[in-house]
Amino acid sequence: MPDLSCRLCGGWRLEVFLSLGQLPLADAFVSAEDLGEPEPRYPLDVAFCLDCALVQILEEVPPQELFVDNYLYFSSYTDGLLAHSREHAERLVEERGLGPDSLVVEVGSNDGYLLRSVAAAGVPVLGIDPAPDQADEAERVGVPTVREFFGEEVARELRLQGRQADVIVANNVMAHTPDLNGFAAGLARLLKHDGVATIENPSVQDLIERCAFDTIYHEHFSYLSSTSVAALMGRYSLTLNRVEEFPSLHGGTRRWWVSRDDTVEPSARDALAREREAGVDRPDFYRAFGSRVSVLREQLMGVLGDLRRDGKRVAAYGAAAKGTTMLNACGIGTDLVEYVVDRNPHKIGRLMPGTHQPIRPVETLLEDRPDAVLLLVWNIADEVLAQQEAYRAAGGRFVVPVPEPRIV
Ligand code: ZN
Repeated sequence: MPDLSCRLCGGWRLEVFLSLGQLPLADAFVSAEDLGEPEPRYPLDVAFCLDCALVQILEEVPPQELFVDNYLYFSSYTDGLLAHSREHAERLVEERGLGPDSLVVEVGSNDGYLLRSVAAAGVPVLGIDPAPDQADEAERVGVPTVREFFGEEVARELRLQGRQADVIVANNVMAHTPDLNGFAAGLARLLKHDGVATIENPSVQDLIERCAFDTIYHEHFSYLSSTSVAALMGRYSLTLNRVEEFPSLHGGTRRWWVSRDDTVEPSARDALAREREAGVDRPDFYRAFGSRVSVLREQLMGVLGDLRRDGKRVAAYGAAAKGTTMLNACGIGTDLVEYVVDRNPHKIGRLMPGTHQPIRPVETLLEDRPDAVLLLVWNIADEVLAQQEAYRAAGGRFVVPVPEPRIV
């Protein structure tokens, strides 16, 4: 029995269905000077709550260590995400009739990638994000930023200053918050009476069905479903009004609309019904996942091993957090994959956590011409394959690891 209670309902009936071993922190990229220092590793065990159906990891690494000290993720380096966010922002401004007297708050505003489009439309904005470099960048592009972790306390302070939000956007941040209840209470407190919050996160149903085990890492405390989001929000008198689905974003993203209005639109009713039908709210849905992950790991090691035995050189694309899980959970060292390329200049020159492949600029692929590239960021496969047309035309191939390894 784990010594933690459920982070949503407080119940103790947590059933572990996957253990990925002792893994380094997914974004703790190693600098050359740090090499030789011991890297902290933490267990990564995933559990299902038999009482409220929330999927969650048991280990709780302090958020400061995860999102401030080691955080190099800048939203603006992902083209597909930018287009998706801009479209959402424009629609919110229009649908909610926002203007100069409104306020749009983004929790986890990162480098201001979304709010700058809202600000450009003449609507006041406020970002909330504790990561200092990202907040600096946001302020440079005109997005004032509160440098704190979001929760009930920040919401209370803003209300004391007379600030409440017409719209709160929380993209890929609720699952990163250990205190889910504090997060939901903060939303309820910060929203104006007729305000609306939109919450985006990958869906646990897609994670399980696509065998996307590499999206499990210490930064992701919870793995959400429409069922668990509705249960959480209900505790704070917020209703899940609408559900939108984006199957190709981050390997399957949901956008949950919540507010004090108790209208349940057909999209939300359908989403909840489909989850019940698939069994997302029951433990059987998760029980076979561990063995499916083992099979995928063996297949991938087989593909990479065959390439190396044929004398082929293999690199990887995407020094993202999920890459750390994939490389470390499979045990893919520098003997199999020589280096990892990435577009984010902040990561170049560092080493992957745990497995220590050096991170190089994307242009390296064309110059060095490795025979194959393991696509660690399979969630943006279309974007990467299009961008790497020249490398592929010259004979380079990509290994896409999930839902099962294939060479393209
Ligand atoms: Zn629970």
